[in-house]
Amino acid sequence: MSESNPYIGRFAPSPTGPLHFGSLACALGSYLDAVSHGGQWLVRMEDLDPPREEPGAAQRIVRSLEAHGLHWHGPLEWQSRRHRLYDDVLDDLAARELTYPCHCSRAQIRRAGGHDNRGCRARTDAQGPSALRVTCSGGEERFTDLWRGTQIQQIRDDTLLRRRDGLYAYQLAVVVDDIDQGVTHVVRGADLLDSSGAQQRLFRLLGAEAPQFGHLPLVLGTAGQKLSKQSCAPAIDDHRAGDNLIQAMRFLGFHPPAELSSEAPPAILSWATARWQRRQVDRHNRQLH
Ligand code: GLU
Repeated sequence: MSESNPYIGRFAPSPTGPLHFGSLACALGSYLDAVSHGGQWLVRMEDLDPPREEPGAAQRIVRSLEAHGLHWHGPLEWQSRRHRLYDDVLDDLAARELTYPCHCSRAQIRRAGGHDNRGCRARTDAQGPSALRVTCSGGEERFTDLWRGTQIQQIRDDTLLRRRDGLYAYQLAVVVDDIDQGVTHVVRGADLLDSSGAQQRLFRLLGAEAPQFGHLPLVLGTAGQKLSKQSCAPAIDDHRAGDNLIQAMRFLGFHPPAELSSEAPPAILSWATARWQRRQVDRHNRQLH
């Protein structure tokens, strides 16, 4: 990457549990894509939602990344320390008269098959705690995903920026941070593909260019479910870092030679960095073999 067109990638785990095999594969994919393009790879802890966090999970994730040789550039960022930034953006959007309070419950939104943007914007009689939304719905967003090609997503709901319980919404924090950190490439799991259109719109609303999105396949459990921290996917064993990396590399389309598994993580990662090609990744979600 040239200096005028740098590559800045990132891995942004939520500390709702330790790193499991699916998140390791994502971390590895985003790391390899960044480093093989001469880019930087940042790590940002998305500790935005304390009630959903597992005590000690953030530290465990950090230790696992280190044990697997996945070293990041620059300081590790924590969303819990970036609230000022989110408030400034909320103030700016409010000054532009783009935000409004929303009293709708999740059940109401589900029953209506989506958020009633117009009705909610016009409501003046609602009482009690409210969420905050940004006026942004309507039409579609298009982008080209690195693995999934052209995507066209309808933007039906005004995006939630702050939840009714007062916590910042994921969509706000992720976009504000990606802008602030100059992220150019978002390589992450396919479970977030459907959020990308709304994020792209928010980037534009905030006067920034959206990053290049790339959504990697998900690792599925034996019952065909996505491995996730919430479904208590087992933590990866840091004492088997080499084997874990080799398995994650196979999932991402590599055919590592048998002798590589006896190497230490830095050597395994150099081998993979030198050979990474986006087209090797099979985009289908699947179980490990
Ligand atoms: N924090 C999110 C998660 O762990 C990922 C956010 C992102 O990569 O945009 O699922």
